[in-house]
Amino acid sequence: MHKPMLMIPGPTPVPEQVLLALAKQPISHRSQEFTTIMEEVSIALKWLHQTTADVLMLPSSGTGAMEAAIINFLSPGDRVLVAHNGKFGERWCNLAQKFGLEVLTVSAPWGDTVNPQEIGDVLRKNADIKALIITHSETSTGVVNDLGAISQEVRFHDAITIVDAVTSIGVMDVPIDRWGLDVVCAASQKGFMVPPGLGFVTVSPKAWEAYQRATLPKFYWDLAKYRLDGEKQGTPFTPPVNLIMALQVSLRMMGEEGLENIFHRHHRHGMTIRSAIADLGLSILARSGAESPGVTAVVSDRSPEILTKMKEEYGIILAGGQNHLTGKIFRIGHLGYVGDRDILTVISALKSILA
Ligand SMILES: *Cc1c(COP(=O)(O)O)cnc(C)c1O
Repeated sequence: MHKPMLMIPGPTPVPEQVLLALAKQPISHRSQEFTTIMEEVSIALKWLHQTTADVLMLPSSGTGAMEAAIINFLSPGDRVLVAHNGKFGERWCNLAQKFGLEVLTVSAPWGDTVNPQEIGDVLRKNADIKALIITHSETSTGVVNDLGAISQEVRFHDAITIVDAVTSIGVMDVPIDRWGLDVVCAASQKGFMVPPGLGFVTVSPKAWEAYQRATLPKFYWDLAKYRLDGEKQGTPFTPPVNLIMALQVSLRMMGEEGLENIFHRHHRHGMTIRSAIADLGLSILARSGAESPGVTAVVSDRSPEILTKMKEEYGIILAGGQNHLTGKIFRIGHLGYVGDRDILTVISALKSILA
């Protein structure tokens, strides 16, 4: 008998209480019952995102939130600076180019972090840059960029800061208001302990000013519509009501655990996994000091075999590498609904397979 165990960086495991909300009959999204849920959820989302700004909910995966973050605040031909060091950073480049933006880049090798000073230098030389775009936690490599330092470099510039925080919200500290981040993307299937299907976009007052000037076409992803209806605890279109009911349950669980405890749990799990990997004689792809508390990329030429054996012998699903790292790394997702026992299990299974 194989009891499957999902240890990939999204989708992540979902608590039973959250799953049960999905099994309920859908309710009308124009009912008082739904309005009450939206009210609770929108307050809890601001708490989770550590912001007083709008946190808007979209019926999408993380990439839908990223697309909304581009088309709502920019115009064709705008110059943007994308700082990238992995697959998701490259996605920002592709997305921005598709919409006719002029993309300048600062990059670092996969496994390394982007240099905040380099970003500052480009911004100082190019006053016309409209947005700095960056992936906070680069899931393809298990690297966390120094967003605190980067945000300091943008403070003195007119550009808005657009951040993919898809594997950092609900995993590690992202003080959106303190760092002055303008547009922040997240998704339900990562740290939120909810199945895929909800995207989140946080929008600062400065970003709403940029919205006024932005001319890229938008309809379904027009964030002003979500803000307007959100003020009445509603949504512009039929939302995935069951996912929002599920989110209500997961946000209550997160509230009970507390932000500090959530961050600490992920930090502790990341450290435990990394020290076990070192004991096994393997190395971590991420530069020392920049390792993600939610996803660990392990360097091994035996990765394909390890992935197969973990699945066949223990039912544990891990992720492989992407692009040029295919076959060269395997990735362990340890974000969201992950407890100490899960960490012990994945470590023991790896030990037995590598022995
Ligand atoms: C998962 C993820 C996304 C979103 O991918 P989707 O498949 O569209 O949900 C974006 N950025 C990062 C860093 C991610 O880990």
